[in-house]
Amino acid sequence: MDRKSFTIDATRATVQERRTSAVALAGSFYAKIEESNPRIGAYLTLSKERAFKKAAEMDALAEKGEELPLLGGVPVGIKDVMVTRGVRTTAGSKILGNYIPPYDCTAVARLEAAGAVILGKTNCDEFAMGSSNENSAWRPVHNPRDLSRVPGGSSGGSAAAVAADMAVAALGSDTGGSIRQPAAFCGVAGLKPTYGRVSRYGLIAFASSLDHIGPFAKSVKDAAIVLRTIAGRDPMDSTSADVPVPDYVAELEKPVCGLKLGVAKEYFGEGLDAEVRSAVEAAIQKLASLGCEIVPVSLPHTKYAIPAYYIVATAEASSNLARYDGVRYGFRAPGARTLSEMYRRTRDQGFGAEVKRRIMLGTYALSAGYYDAYYLKAQKVRTLLAQDFEAAFQKVDAIVTPTTPTAAFKLGEKLDDPLAMYLADIYTVTANLAGIPGISIPCGETKDKLPIGLQILGKHFDEATVLRVAHAYQQAAR
Ligand code: GLN
Repeated sequence: MDRKSFTIDATRATVQERRTSAVALAGSFYAKIEESNPRIGAYLTLSKERAFKKAAEMDALAEKGEELPLLGGVPVGIKDVMVTRGVRTTAGSKILGNYIPPYDCTAVARLEAAGAVILGKTNCDEFAMGSSNENSAWRPVHNPRDLSRVPGGSSGGSAAAVAADMAVAALGSDTGGSIRQPAAFCGVAGLKPTYGRVSRYGLIAFASSLDHIGPFAKSVKDAAIVLRTIAGRDPMDSTSADVPVPDYVAELEKPVCGLKLGVAKEYFGEGLDAEVRSAVEAAIQKLASLGCEIVPVSLPHTKYAIPAYYIVATAEASSNLARYDGVRYGFRAPGARTLSEMYRRTRDQGFGAEVKRRIMLGTYALSAGYYDAYYLKAQKVRTLLAQDFEAAFQKVDAIVTPTTPTAAFKLGEKLDDPLAMYLADIYTVTANLAGIPGISIPCGETKDKLPIGLQILGKHFDEATVLRVAHAYQQAAR
């Protein structure tokens, strides 16, 4: 069987019917990683012992003729911002370079309980801050479709692992676009659920009110399977919602004919690359041809999303990252004579430039004299953005947009210009500020053969419709 054709169902069936063993399959994925990873840099740490143990368990079940769980024997990658018991977890940072967590992130535990084989931890921007994966303290990730280009960020390793057949599916985190944007750049599906849909327990915090965990997969159906597995209330995260989790896979097959899809001109303005625009417009036409009604909507506060996001995100980050002080876990700078010198040296040597920049920005925005002018103002803008979506969703069932203004850019291209880098998220940060779900799926290529992403946004807790529209498009575009 060709590794490319390994969807979740096909992989599970192969193990269930004992056409190959889960152990042999994990071995073949590790061989692929050994071959491709030096070039691509998708994985930081491999968890072979844990993977082979789980794989053997699945083989034992299959041998007894018992039905495998939903992800039985399926090899997956986990972004290195989710803690894994006994497996080094760095968040892409030197400050956690030697950190071995004593517990599992809920989403990881749920995947494994459903039979998934965790191959290892994927590369990412330091503390998930970035849009290109060049902020990883360890090494950049290269886009499997063109090695001179970035895979997107911050979950670049997870996106690249799936795109380069080094995992069947992967988990990422999305605070301002970090699942959808790399999915678009690498040509895979990436879903950010509703805030509260998936527990954040064990997700190393960047900006707690914006952070989400979600899947990368080759198909919308696979994303639906992973979401179903990880979603739902978790007593360990008080912000996880007690809302029933539908059977997303069953929902996929409902017809899309008659659904109303919103198109907002604010997402098709200045800065949108012409090739991306025409691919997305063609995708919208395709959805119209399936019987969806295309309805113009207005999201007038969109232009304030990036500034509001970078105030809220940095403010929360400055507070969340205070815990890395060399005392409790991770790296401690040697040779300090006093406690405060130890703090300073640890944070100076442990954090990279982008993380320091954000801690300073966030501390400033929260400081007594500036709180009202910046943080409070940004929170008010956030409410306006959420109200824009509420009003639009009175009229439509979902909203379709480009995921990113351009296809994957070159490594180094935006490194010296943080503001240009921040604009890579212009179409994705709004969903984080509003807490609504969104998916990116491939919808064509540029003339340089770079993937282009179509974003579909939905109402709170209505991932089912988002997935359904995405699935219908994917089926029709084949
Ligand atoms: N690129 C955005 C940032 O740097 C989003 C990152 C993310 O979603 N984790 O903040």
